[in-house]
Amino acid sequence: MGVLRLNEITEECGVFAVVGHPRASQLCYYGLYALQHRGQESAGMAVRNGARIQTKKGMGLVSDVFAREDVMSMAGSSALAHVRYSNVGDEGGVEDAQPITVKMWQGQMSFAHNGNLVNAAKLRTGLEGDGSIFQTTSDCEVIPHLMSKSGSKDPVEALVKCLPALKGAYSLCVLTPNGIIAAKDPNGFRPLCLGRLDGAYIVCSETCALDAVGATFIRELDPGEAIFIEEAKNPGPVWLSAREPVSYSVGNRFDCGKSVARNSTLCVFEFIYFARPDSDIYGLNVHAARKALGRRLAQKDCLPADLVTGIPDSSLSAATGYAEEAGIPYEMGIVKNRYIGRTFIAPRQSMRELGVKIKINPLQRVVSGKRVVMVDDSIVRGTTSKYIVSLLRAAGAREVHVRISCPPYRFPCYYGIDTSSKGELIAIGKTEEQIRQAIGADSIAFLDVKDLEEVLGRQVGNLCAACFTGNYPVKPDDTPGAGF
Ligand code: AMP
Repeated sequence: MGVLRLNEITEECGVFAVVGHPRASQLCYYGLYALQHRGQESAGMAVRNGARIQTKKGMGLVSDVFAREDVMSMAGSSALAHVRYSNVGDEGGVEDAQPITVKMWQGQMSFAHNGNLVNAAKLRTGLEGDGSIFQTTSDCEVIPHLMSKSGSKDPVEALVKCLPALKGAYSLCVLTPNGIIAAKDPNGFRPLCLGRLDGAYIVCSETCALDAVGATFIRELDPGEAIFIEEAKNPGPVWLSAREPVSYSVGNRFDCGKSVARNSTLCVFEFIYFARPDSDIYGLNVHAARKALGRRLAQKDCLPADLVTGIPDSSLSAATGYAEEAGIPYEMGIVKNRYIGRTFIAPRQSMRELGVKIKINPLQRVVSGKRVVMVDDSIVRGTTSKYIVSLLRAAGAREVHVRISCPPYRFPCYYGIDTSSKGELIAIGKTEEQIRQAIGADSIAFLDVKDLEEVLGRQVGNLCAACFTGNYPVKPDDTPGAGF
């Protein structure tokens, strides 16, 4: 088992947990489908039936890992599920898939989280020095080890004691012997919300997963908040339910149970690219946010063009916003093969390029002879935009103007977005003109951080925009900084 190296293990993930429902595994299964965009490398589910937790996980999409029979056979009233996306250099295979189920002296428990602990390597080295033996390379595994050493028999007390030791991003769920603990780091980098379905509670990464199972949204977890939802021990074979969640503060940074979005540094990239458009985060709909960013791009432009097109799917909201604001018709200039996962699934650059080619085809009849505005939500390594500019030109586009609904991405993310290696980011050391040349566009324009702040920040509080500014709210060496 290799050493955990910073910058190499970053994870974008989705979590879905159910407390007190007779069909907990089925709800998790549908919930995971709704969160599939947050991770396609592995999927897993842990279901508690009495004192025993049954865990199934595997590599690939939810549909690769779970057959209907698997889900039906996982009987239990509380469950925790996870989809994961890991980065180049991650050495683990299926053993790194989550949930991680362990037998502890406090009882059998399962752990799953979304985010990246910047001090996981340091914590792990210390724990290993004290004799801990790790089964995975996942940063999540330090959590059960810390809980085990906390001296508290009660799982909630044990977790709340060790959470202040964790630095970085975590939206965490723990399946305990009698319920679910959910916790968000004090910066609230990643979303995590609470919902209700019949008598049961659900905690999940995005509201689109609540919609998928017909649950009602209650609220976001606050940054720095942990909640415990205990399964109610109602007599009777059929109907189960959960008790009202109880809140705890992580590291006493904020008051809990109040809406404190303004104190957070939520990841701005959730709005730009990562979350699903039909999700709301702190009351702001992701599609509406992207559309507003597209509008802002158009307000900064006066470009004579024949049509606007977006790169499916994540930039379509921004592209329609741009088109509406600019008064230029929106056209479907690019078609995406929907049966292939996101470009980044293949971890090596050569494979990534191949992935893009299989995925995308321009509509020649639409773009031929036209001045095209191609809107994308972001340029990270430049693979996608460079390739699509060349495809549009090959399809006869007269001019291709690239408009990006975020600023140039110049700094690696340490909190869970897969852009951990500096060398791969196309914008590093380049001016906008040099980026234009590198991708072969006729012109290029980006939003700036102030635009993001004005369009998004007012509603959702502070945001982490370290990927654009290099201003890390929690430095990789744990030094506190600031969001914008
Ligand atoms: P790139 O091709 O490396 O410049 O990546 C930018 C393209 O991938 C854009 O079309 C984005 O919609 C998408 N994208 C941005 N960030 C990510 C990410 N972390 N994982 C997967 N795809 C991404």
